[in-house]
Amino acid sequence: MKFSYKILLCSIILTAAVFGIGGYFFVNDVFKASMEREMRQALDENSILRFAFETAALNVPSKYGILQNAAVKEIGASLENSRQSTGRLLRLSDEKKESLYASEGFVEDISLLSAVEANTRVSQVIRFEDRYYIQTGAMVDSLDRYLYLETMRDVTDVYTERTRGFQVYRNLTLLLLALSGVCMYFIAAWLTRPIQILTQAARKMAEGDYSCRASQVSRDEMGQLTEDFNHMACVLEQNIQNLKEEVRAREDFIAAFSHELKTPLTAVIGYADMLRSRKLDDEKHFLSANYIYTEGKRLEAMSLRLLDIIVARRYRLDAQKTDVEVLFSYLKAIYGDNKEYHFLFQYEPCRIEAEADLLKTVLLNLADNACKASDPGTSVEIMGHKKENGYLFAVRDHGSGISKEECQKITEAFYMVDKSRSRSHNGAGLGLALCVEILRLHQSSLMIESTPGEGSCFRFLIPFTQEGAENET
Ligand code: ADP
Repeated sequence: MKFSYKILLCSIILTAAVFGIGGYFFVNDVFKASMEREMRQALDENSILRFAFETAALNVPSKYGILQNAAVKEIGASLENSRQSTGRLLRLSDEKKESLYASEGFVEDISLLSAVEANTRVSQVIRFEDRYYIQTGAMVDSLDRYLYLETMRDVTDVYTERTRGFQVYRNLTLLLLALSGVCMYFIAAWLTRPIQILTQAARKMAEGDYSCRASQVSRDEMGQLTEDFNHMACVLEQNIQNLKEEVRAREDFIAAFSHELKTPLTAVIGYADMLRSRKLDDEKHFLSANYIYTEGKRLEAMSLRLLDIIVARRYRLDAQKTDVEVLFSYLKAIYGDNKEYHFLFQYEPCRIEAEADLLKTVLLNLADNACKASDPGTSVEIMGHKKENGYLFAVRDHGSGISKEECQKITEAFYMVDKSRSRSHNGAGLGLALCVEILRLHQSSLMIESTPGEGSCFRFLIPFTQEGAENET
């Protein structure tokens, strides 16, 4: 069953219950009040009639000193006639509770009469021939006789009123139910609109449309739910986008890897085939064997680099307090006496939290790349400066430079700007990819600034840890 129908059904049941029960109690309350009033009037009437009887009895001439039965009948008739217009009935009974006078239509039942005692007034509601009466009874003490006076007051109208009251209430309840049902139908549809919108959005997402968002139609809890749903959808879309990019990157990686493998392998297989199938002169023999050796070496270097990247991705950094002096001394030892390029070292002493061997690999790669991109005789600067939140390393060259678009790609594995030039330097486009992985372990990243024809500057910041920063200040 639809949620809106459930709301509708609940509201109808609730309205019916409230009006039904409320109406029942209201009509019954009015009925009770009317009956109490009628009862009081019936008892008062009994008292008045009793008093009237006693007064009339005093005026009757007594023959034997007591009131004769015939006189009782006469008084009863005159009392009834004086009250006929009001439709009240009476019965007068003697000491043995045997009827002396009874109005026409008075009930023959004497159960109330038997309960009458001296100085008491009794009453009851009776149903007689489809009509309702209040029957009252009391003892009359007149001229040494103890007689009984009973009256019957017709209260059928009160009962009829009650039945009418119930009917009116039932009709009113049905009308209200119909009206509230129509209203609640629209209210339920309005209340459940955000749910419908959310359901449609969720369905679209399930069908693969991750850009779909639910429109927010209220600012209440449902509005909050819609906002949360949309936020979740954004995160999901972003994650799926990331996953797609990761898959694409992996596919690119596999394609590039296969390509990088295929080229040297084809050459190796070709030269090896030539060596085994033909007799070559010494020079050609040496060249072929040398080609197989150098390509083999390149493959070995490539596989080692790849291994380094894979290890770096899974590596848990063991950062130690490292003096940057150690790193620069190492670089000076390698490049200080370089005759081809003019190496400049400029740095501020500092202690950083890093794994020295890994940072050496990064700096060596960057310095090697700077050399590869530069013409002999130009300068390569390796610098280190303290910054507010970390230690900044920079490797600057004045070589070929890289275009803006390529700057974004050169950190991808196997990407080479100039393939033949890189290969001639035994490169496979893996050096910077390895640097990125190592820097990621140090919570750092590579920043590249380059102008084609003017040179490049590769920088990275090793952040100070809280403890390290305190020591440095
Ligand atoms: P490789 O190991 O082949 O050198 P890298 O990942 O280190 O590969 O570099 C990727 C590519 O980025 C290189 O092929 C090169 O063309 C380019 N590159 C890297 N450093 C520089 C630089 N300082 N100046 C110009 N080009 C550079």
